[in-house]
Amino acid sequence: MAYEFDLFVIGAGSGGVRAARFAAGFGAKVAVAESRYLGGTCVNVGCVPKKLLVYGAHFAEDFEQASGFGWSLGEANFDWATLIANKDREIHRLNGIYRNLLVNSGVTLMEGHAKITGPHEVEVNGQRYTAKHILIATGGWPQIPEIPGREHAISSNEAFFLKELPKRVLVVGGGYIAVEFAGIFHGLGAKTSLLYRGEMFLRGFDGAVRKHLHEELTKRGMDVQFNADIARIDKQPDGSLKATLKDGRELMADCVFYATGRRPMLDNLGLENTGVKLDKRGFVEVDELYQSAEPSILAIGDVIGRVQLTPVALAEGMAVARRLFKPEQYRAVDYKMIPTAVFSLPNIGTVGLSEEQAIEDGHKVQIFESSFRPMKLTLTECQERTLMKLVVDADTDKVLGCHMVGPEAGEIVQGLAIALKAGATKQHFDETIGVHPTAAEEFVTMRTPVNR
Ligand code: FAD
Ligand code: NDP
Repeated sequence: MAYEFDLFVIGAGSGGVRAARFAAGFGAKVAVAESRYLGGTCVNVGCVPKKLLVYGAHFAEDFEQASGFGWSLGEANFDWATLIANKDREIHRLNGIYRNLLVNSGVTLMEGHAKITGPHEVEVNGQRYTAKHILIATGGWPQIPEIPGREHAISSNEAFFLKELPKRVLVVGGGYIAVEFAGIFHGLGAKTSLLYRGEMFLRGFDGAVRKHLHEELTKRGMDVQFNADIARIDKQPDGSLKATLKDGRELMADCVFYATGRRPMLDNLGLENTGVKLDKRGFVEVDELYQSAEPSILAIGDVIGRVQLTPVALAEGMAVARRLFKPEQYRAVDYKMIPTAVFSLPNIGTVGLSEEQAIEDGHKVQIFESSFRPMKLTLTECQERTLMKLVVDADTDKVLGCHMVGPEAGEIVQGLAIALKAGATKQHFDETIGVHPTAAEEFVTMRTPVNR
């Protein structure tokens, strides 16, 4: 049968745009449908605006520290509306770039909600199109638990468009988004409490990293509460919000922000018209080639719930395009040694195994750890400390994991990820000459293992 398109991509986010552009570049006839915003979560309500707000929040400490270097400033004033308007302008510019990228690569762009009406058929804006392959790249959506008063809470989607900076914020959750937004609100001057339901936030990260970040956030005056879970939220006559915790305590706020994970975006997608199956957590189930239970339908990115990061969605999109239309260039995505950063203040940068994971995997580990006051702070009152940690296999000398909490940790860990991917040993680290004076050089000068 002749199809109108070789590939129909649903969702013009990180993964969808990458797959569509590459497929079109390989000569395929490609369509993309996008219902909300070009560039998807990352560009519109994720990585990009988040990082801009983190930069904004960082200025608070820059102003404070400047006096140690002889600068005197007037009273610093922050205007949320200006930050949001400038952020919106930049995102609008990026939307245009994404549009050009798609159109210039020959992709047919359809703006509207796409519904799958059969294994080879998609409906957009009342019109049906046929395609040999359909790629689901519809991403995810914030998930707020079903508690009384949840309608008073906001998620990251709304936080980027608040009309004003709330005076008091309760941030609920202990993952990436909660920690990053707690830093943004706190840095910009809101009285911020971070409430996490468990013993220690950032489950899955190295134990020393979690502890160090907790100490640093507390030092900065953020109210971080563990074993704290909201049971209900009640709006007060004056518009403020009362959060009652499961232990009976009551906290007052102007904004309750939930960052308690993201579900796959499958709303009205028409999966019932296909043989696509979902996994136990509700994400689209795919094999190692991103093929679903319906042979003509593939899925990538957040909607498959593997690793919810933009560079991973990009890699998956590229892998699908190559496998379908340039098989001689196909390379499977390697999910090992994915570097990642949490843009908290201070940042976390990490790649490879945590100490706990390494031990659980049966490695005999040697740990190298260093905590120091960054040079930039020596002329200031700020008592922030940076943490660096290497997890090494004692038998093979291979570096299994690098972890950092401190300024620019995300920037530093990118290069380390290449070394770890190439199989670097501790000896390679030791033989590498440092860049002086930097914080990063500490990664190649740690000589004495920690005595456990
Ligand atoms: P998305 O980018 O979500 O794209 C899906 C697209 O599909 C959307 O545009 C949506 O409108 C569209 N769509 C959905 N259903 C339909 C339909 N039926 N018809 C048509 N279109 C549809 N990752 C990082 O690596 N670094 C970060 O710093 C980072 N920060 C983040 C901060 C926040 C607040 C959030 C929420 C996420 C962050 N992420 C970050 C994660 C990153 O944004 C996602 O992993 C990435 O966007 C996933 O890409 P995707 O292509 O799977 O989906
Ligand atoms: P995460 O899955 O990272 O964290 C969710 C947090 O919410 C966990 O601490 C979890 O606790 C807690 N939680 C889950 N359910 C409940 C509940 N019912 N009540 C109270 N707490 C709950 O999700 P996020 O929303 O923070 O982010 C989604 C994903 O987006 C991230 O995993 C990441 O992949 C990506 N992202 C990446 C960023 C980056 O690269 N810098 C930045 C932002 C997002 P517990 O641990 O106990 O389960």
